[in-house]
Amino acid sequence: MQPSAALARISPSPTLAVSARVGALKRQGVDVIGLGAGEPDFDTPDHIKEAGIRAIRDGRTKYTDVDGTPELKAAVVAKFARDNRLSYGLDQVTVNVGGKHTLFNAMVATVDPGDEVVIPAPYWVSYPDVVQFAGGTPVIAPAGPEQDYKLSPAALEAAITPRTRWLILNSPSNPTGAAYTRDELRALGAVLARHPQVWVFADDMYEHIIYDGFAFASIAEACPDLYERTLTVNGCSKAYAMTGWRIGFGGGPAWLIKAMAKLQSQSTSNPCSIAQAAAVAALTGPQDFLAERARAFQARRDLVVSMLNQAKGITCPRPDGAFYVYPSIAPLIGTTTPKGQLIDSDEAFVGYLLDEARVAAVHGAAFGLSPAMRISYATSEDVLRAAGERIQTACAALR
Ligand code: GLU
Repeated sequence: MQPSAALARISPSPTLAVSARVGALKRQGVDVIGLGAGEPDFDTPDHIKEAGIRAIRDGRTKYTDVDGTPELKAAVVAKFARDNRLSYGLDQVTVNVGGKHTLFNAMVATVDPGDEVVIPAPYWVSYPDVVQFAGGTPVIAPAGPEQDYKLSPAALEAAITPRTRWLILNSPSNPTGAAYTRDELRALGAVLARHPQVWVFADDMYEHIIYDGFAFASIAEACPDLYERTLTVNGCSKAYAMTGWRIGFGGGPAWLIKAMAKLQSQSTSNPCSIAQAAAVAALTGPQDFLAERARAFQARRDLVVSMLNQAKGITCPRPDGAFYVYPSIAPLIGTTTPKGQLIDSDEAFVGYLLDEARVAAVHGAAFGLSPAMRISYATSEDVLRAAGERIQTACAALR
């Protein structure tokens, strides 16, 4: 027996690999600061936990409808109407085992060999792999520092061919934190208007983590003409600090939702019934703590951006959202560590940071734009200050 050809087309998730490495080092008693994993340090709010506990007590521990309970689907419909002014019927929403599962279902349900999916780089690590698993071809479109880490209409136009099935658009972005304004979305929408074969996978997972009064917009709302060919994707993980509960969801045309449910009925079946009950509480309960948490993330962003810009060889932009920074480390490539190791790539640099500074980050190559690294600042200011000092010392020691 050998691994399948489909499996050979993908790599293990690099972000989850860094989390696993940090976990193992911590269990060995190593004082390592993990800035690799993208997960809020905040706890799941009590009212959400209580809803999960109540679901267990009330015996809501059996199968549910494959792609979500009627209660959770109604809560998702209400969420899209409240936050995004998007109107979906109950047959237009799907609930999945995290946003990654929504991506997986959408790609496997619609992509055939030879189909292309446009992915702006830097991108979240799983987009190209899931497309490749589905048999499609990722078409990487540049969205680097010269365009503020956002896809330009010209770069989108250049990436589209008659075989393009999807554009994956993530705002605010993992890994850069760049967020598209309503006008920028409309400019992309104007390009897509000329290419009716292209659908939009709108990954809005970091919608509520935005700074300096940035006005979040989702593309199907900014461009009503795209409503019929957009899957608007979101989830509970980041906004409600529920990464482990695994609830992602999407809204889109009923036929696509049905196709994704068919696939899910033959794979995971329903997302965990208890997590679904907790998600109802998250989406329908108090929302005021979201802005409070965003303010805390903003203070952390300011601290991290300032400390990284003081490190030799690092240039760190100041993002509008999410809880990542994606600094360039170009001047550090070609330097040598005190032990004589050549830093010849961003992977070598983050390896040096982990081994010598005991700070874990994820190398830029994993996100398709080098030389850079992703730092997740979803942790306390004290920890971030200590990490910033360690990084500054490590950079100063390079020759
Ligand atoms: N989205 C998070 C990250 O990028 C979670 C880990 C993952 O699934 O990639 O770190």
